[in-house]
Amino acid sequence: MTNCVFCDIAHGDAPSTTVLDTEDVLAFLDIRPISRGHVLVIPKRHSTDLDTLEPALGGAVFAAGQRISRAIRRSDLRSDGANLVVNDGKAAFQTVFHTHLHVVPRWTGDKLRFARGFVTRRLRAPEETAAAIRDGLVRLAAEDADHAG
Ligand code: AMP
Ligand code: ZN
Repeated sequence: MTNCVFCDIAHGDAPSTTVLDTEDVLAFLDIRPISRGHVLVIPKRHSTDLDTLEPALGGAVFAAGQRISRAIRRSDLRSDGANLVVNDGKAAFQTVFHTHLHVVPRWTGDKLRFARGFVTRRLRAPEETAAAIRDGLVRLAAEDADHAG
């Protein structure tokens, strides 16, 4: 265990509901989601914020966020879009000081539900939600393979 909860998750020493795991990056469900399928993407190597994040690793984090966002659109969650956000520093309401990218799925006309989600932030059916996102990633990979072939 370390004094950083996201390092503990990256090392497998703390639980998370994982949707994507690569050499450099891990993505898992936020425990207090604003909307269904709210994912956090982290670099496995610790950095506190954008000031200490290696740009190449930042590129890998964004690429994973982009992929996950596209996967959620294709998943049974059927999102119509997403907000990708980095809260950089205490002034920007960063609360966990291990750099992370939020992927917050959005649906057309979800304004009220989204506003409610900001208040309730309740995690529902995490296993089903993560499975749907992983399935969306498989669909996206199949689509990529189709285009390549
Ligand atoms: P912020 O630092 O404001 O960008 O947000 C940190 C996010 O991490 C919040 O949305 C929390 O709900 C989320 N969070 C904190 N601890 C955990 C954890 N152990 N597993 C998953 N998400 C977490
Ligand atoms: Zn860390």
